[in-house]
Amino acid sequence: MPELPEVETVRRGLSPAMEGAVIEKAAINRPDLRWPFPERMAERLTGRRVTALRRRSKYILADLDSGETLLVHLGMSGRMTVSGDPLGQFVHDHPQAQKHDHVVFDMDNGARITFNDPRRFGAMDLLETATADQHKLLAVLGPEPLGNSFHEEHLIAAFKGRNTPVKSALLDQGIIAGLGNIYVCEALFRAGISPKRKAGQIAAQRVSALVPIIKDVLTDAIKAGGSSLKDFRQADGELGYFQHSFDVYGREGEPCRRAGCDGTIGRITQSGRSSFYCGKCQR
Ligand SMILES: [Zn+2]
Repeated sequence: MPELPEVETVRRGLSPAMEGAVIEKAAINRPDLRWPFPERMAERLTGRRVTALRRRSKYILADLDSGETLLVHLGMSGRMTVSGDPLGQFVHDHPQAQKHDHVVFDMDNGARITFNDPRRFGAMDLLETATADQHKLLAVLGPEPLGNSFHEEHLIAAFKGRNTPVKSALLDQGIIAGLGNIYVCEALFRAGISPKRKAGQIAAQRVSALVPIIKDVLTDAIKAGGSSLKDFRQADGELGYFQHSFDVYGREGEPCRRAGCDGTIGRITQSGRSSFYCGKCQR
């Protein structure tokens, strides 16, 4: 499942093909993904210029010159590809349409954007740009971890008196937007905090230290995404998925990488999801 860095990498890959360009044709090949598409979606998109391509949490937001914003969520298996555009080093022909190509945009610069989603947990919606923050999916979100409103005081206040494990608190989208299982595990490892520790019982100083660590973990992953893909895109035009080396995620039974620690990475299940951590140096 894509997390914030992967979605940001997709946004950056789409940006040169979409920002400033007009959607000449929008093909909507089925009535729904996770939810039904908005009414007259093709009609509301056709002929519209994308004035900005933004990201909020794991949502990609394309502002249109009509005053509406297209919201895209990749879900579990949603993928976006760019083909045929004149911007990259290689000009690809449009690939043959694939099964599960549910939405296809032909831009006026020659680029084709294809949204493919075999499992259909993805979503698209059209919202009024001016009130986009109040959309039901966005209104519940806490601050962006890479933004200025995610800071030490915010996290200390959010953790105060909270009796849930820190792992669950960091996955709470109302506390921080866009953090998922992988990067929570990685951030807790870097901070030396056990995923089992109750959020409200962590000293303020250690909570404060988590803030720059979370920002660094995400920034590093975005950098890795960018550097592992030429122009954020693979040869087949697919955006945003990259091999990334993690310190703890997926490393059960392997040696801890912290200098001077001879621990082994363990795995426990918390709220139905795997937490990877070193029981020796994460306290
Ligand atoms: Zn360790």
